Amino acid sequence: MAPLMKPALKRGWRDLNTVQFGMTPTHALTLGPMDTATGSFLDLLNGTRGMELLREEGRRMDLPDGHVDGLVRRLAGAGLLDDARGGGPAGDALRRRKEVLDRLRPDLASLTLTTSEPGEAMSRLTARRSLRVQVRGAGRVGAMVASLLSAAGVGDIDVRDVGRVEPWDVAPGGLPAEAIGARRDEAARRTARRCAAVRPRRGRHAPPSEEGAGHSLVIIAPRDDVAVHAPSPSAADPLITSGTPHLYAGVVEATGVVGPLVLPGETACAGCLNEGRTDRDPAWPRLVAQWHSGSGSGSGRARDVRPCDLTLATTVAGLAAAHALAFLDGRLPSSAGARWEVSLPSLTWHARPVWAHPACPCGATDKGEGEHPSDGEESHETMAEQRPSQELRRTADAKRLAGTWRAHV
Ligand SMILES: [Zn+2]
Repeated sequence: MAPLMKPALKRGWRDLNTVQFGMTPTHALTLGPMDTATGSFLDLLNGTRGMELLREEGRRMDLPDGHVDGLVRRLAGAGLLDDARGGGPAGDALRRRKEVLDRLRPDLASLTLTTSEPGEAMSRLTARRSLRVQVRGAGRVGAMVASLLSAAGVGDIDVRDVGRVEPWDVAPGGLPAEAIGARRDEAARRTARRCAAVRPRRGRHAPPSEEGAGHSLVIIAPRDDVAVHAPSPSAADPLITSGTPHLYAGVVEATGVVGPLVLPGETACAGCLNEGRTDRDPAWPRLVAQWHSGSGSGSGRARDVRPCDLTLATTVAGLAAAHALAFLDGRLPSSAGARWEVSLPSLTWHARPVWAHPACPCGATDKGEGEHPSDGEESHETMAEQRPSQELRRTADAKRLAGTWRAHV
């Protein structure tokens, strides 16, 4: 290990013996009391020295025996340390490809803020490469989500759609004007591949299945606005059956929607959403049927251009990709059990809860009423790993609320 004070956290002395790491309330921590010698020792934690060399430096600075190890342990425990050599063989391989790493450097730095263990950020970043994500729908939102995930290092992105690229599908960050007339799915896959910092893996997998099985996540981003507003429970049946996590996103009228993120059997799904709406409004199914027959669904009437503000589509794509990445990195974003909605022109985001419904066969209600998804026993494999840093943050927050958090070093 080559300890490194996380450079993403700006350092500032609050007084003579208290250091604050980070600026924003979400990430900032204060550390103290700290003597001058220890304070200057922090400068040596810059990723160029291993532990042996650091102990030597400590002795040279007359720091007591064991002080260096204790300090490094506490800093790591507080989530302030990274490991310049961390991330295992995949991390080493990425560091050797400087031009690739340079493109992802801000993303890596950001990951150091949302992970706790030294080297964890690099592990998360390199793990993205082996993930398979399917995006259903290659309109303004879907094509952009695919490109964003590809640029963020997700290694295998499959895009599904029908028809050919229309002029109104074109968007910066999404399908380019040159793609007009090309097959929509192929054009979106090609665009996503071009955005990749890390060359996508090829030929390693069996052909991706239509049902989404074998994917870490399926993102459902329909071009059809009725499907955005009233996602079809039956269309997601194979995903529920195969236990494939999926996330909804899209634009309907002048409203952007991100969520829910569905963890089958754990959090509310499209069926739950539909049942809940029917409970609240008995006319709901009748309206949905009319909307479908009125506007044509799926690939029916390609020339029927639906409203989709370019900036709203970009906003939705960005937020959807961020929720997707948070999940793929092993976290549980706030779209689990909720739909985030934003409408032009006020652009205030609201989270509308989507409750698991007892009449829905997905089984999410079996998890217990009112239970938070992250408390589920059978969490998604990577979700379990998120807890240390979440707990750390909670502890830090609680301590901060009670006063100033002071770790003795
Ligand atoms: Zn359900």
